[in-house]
Amino acid sequence: MPTLKGNGDRQMTTETYDVDLFVIGAGSGGVRAARIAAGYGARVKVAEEYRIGGTCVIRGCVPKKLFVYAARFPQEFKDAAGFGWTVGEPTFDWSTLIANKDVEIDRLENAYRSNLEKTGAEIVPQRATIEGPHEVRLADGTLVTARYILVATGGRPNLGLDIPGRNLGITSNEAFHLKTLPERIIIQGAGYIALEFAGLFAALGSKVTVVHRGKGLLRDFDDEVADRLCTAMSGHGVTFEFGVTIDAIDQTGEGKQVRLNDGRVLCADEVMLAIGRVPNTVGVGLETAGVALDMAGAIAVDKNSRTNIPSIYAVGDVTNRVNLTPVAIREGHAFADTVFGDNPWVVDHSLVPTAVFTEPEIGVVGLTEQQARAQGYRLDIYKADFRSLKATLSGSKERFFMKLLVDQPTQRVLGVHFMGDGAAEMIQMVGIALTVGATKADFDRTIALHPSTAEELVTLRVKHSSSDKPAEVARVAV
Ligand SMILES: Cc1cc2nc3c(=O)[nH]c(=O)nc-3n(C[C@H](O)[C@H](O)[C@H](O)COP(=O)(O)OP(=O)(O)OC[C@H]3O[C@@H](n4cnc5c(N)ncnc54)[C@H](O)[C@@H]3O)c2cc1C
Repeated sequence: MPTLKGNGDRQMTTETYDVDLFVIGAGSGGVRAARIAAGYGARVKVAEEYRIGGTCVIRGCVPKKLFVYAARFPQEFKDAAGFGWTVGEPTFDWSTLIANKDVEIDRLENAYRSNLEKTGAEIVPQRATIEGPHEVRLADGTLVTARYILVATGGRPNLGLDIPGRNLGITSNEAFHLKTLPERIIIQGAGYIALEFAGLFAALGSKVTVVHRGKGLLRDFDDEVADRLCTAMSGHGVTFEFGVTIDAIDQTGEGKQVRLNDGRVLCADEVMLAIGRVPNTVGVGLETAGVALDMAGAIAVDKNSRTNIPSIYAVGDVTNRVNLTPVAIREGHAFADTVFGDNPWVVDHSLVPTAVFTEPEIGVVGLTEQQARAQGYRLDIYKADFRSLKATLSGSKERFFMKLLVDQPTQRVLGVHFMGDGAAEMIQMVGIALTVGATKADFDRTIALHPSTAEELVTLRVKHSSSDKPAEVARVAV
């Protein structure tokens, strides 16, 4: 009888259970875990109730980025004039964008499906529910026993309070399938999803109002970057209503009316609720198996993504660690290597490059200034704020902002923040430097690539500010 390698609680033969691994959810984390585990010879089943690829591929990162590309053309058309181009009056057809996006998403889903199947994993196209530490019930009633269960059910939009007319609002899920481009849209929220949609709808021609109960954007980002983004997006025509919430949504003959808690009424064709996401833990059978949740309702896991039930693991958004695709993929990979490949490793969540595909774009890796200060670091701060070479001829008012946070005693770079054209692509490379612990001196001795926007990063000489204040809080390593 074959026996799999692994550090599991029970070194049982593979014949004891129907499968070695049952994955619930074929999104970023689940697919990676299933493929790697199957590659080690594990017998794997993956249940998916919707479409293979999960949020990222079907209704997240990928379609969103395709929309962002579409939304950047109007500015390109304008910029072209300064370089001698005459561009006729551009027209835009929303339904062409939706149709072409759908074709690409279908192609990707098929690629995910065939790559998964090539590894030998079996896709079960239905909802699955846990019935015990080793038991999963499929929607058709079949019971499958598994040596290990991996919960990779992701997250879903938070709909907030059950206000009157909430069902009249859409979420990001529906935004990818709107029949027409809304002339006016109200977006509730100030996180990256709300702002990316605000930016792209505005660029495509919608009148956009962002409603947010707080005072600023992007809570977990550097305050200075978030403030600059607010100014820049306002300059692109997005209206921000801070310090208010939506009390009710009403349907009228002319569209939707939003009643704000300060008594005002706003009108729009669509209302989008983008006030965060919640882990998909409801109806998964977690309580039946005794799987513990944390205070936020996410599955509580240890550094190996193991729950309190030794045979049940969880990865990705359902664990609410860092809710991004590459993180879910890493967690799924680490799980499969550790449990099935006899190659244990853990994911480092401390340095995750992140982008916000707004206009202007943001790219970030490492600590924000407020996080660094709260952790007691003494900082040297370097900043640059300039017009890129392209803007000289295009006449665009867009600027590029960069901010470098350096730990004063060690000169290690703790955080890099970019805002402007190409910020996302650049920050991925900077992530490598920070991962290997680069110091300011390492940045300085790197030869610039000229002419480029990124060269400013290695030519920052003058300290914008430094803080000699001793640490008030115990330093936490990044
Ligand atoms: C609009 C939007 C934009 C985003 N943009 C980015 C971005 O630019 N970059 C980035 O890194 N991340 C982005 N994200 C986040 C990213 O999509 C998620 O972090 C990632 O998809 C999480 O992967 P996952 O495997 O945890 O879950 P998911 O990809 O959500 O997969 C979970 C799967 O489980 C299935 N499922 C749930 N319950 C069951 C069940 N009981 N039985 C069977 N199947 C079930 C679901 O149908 C789903 O397919 C974005 C998200 C959204 C919503």
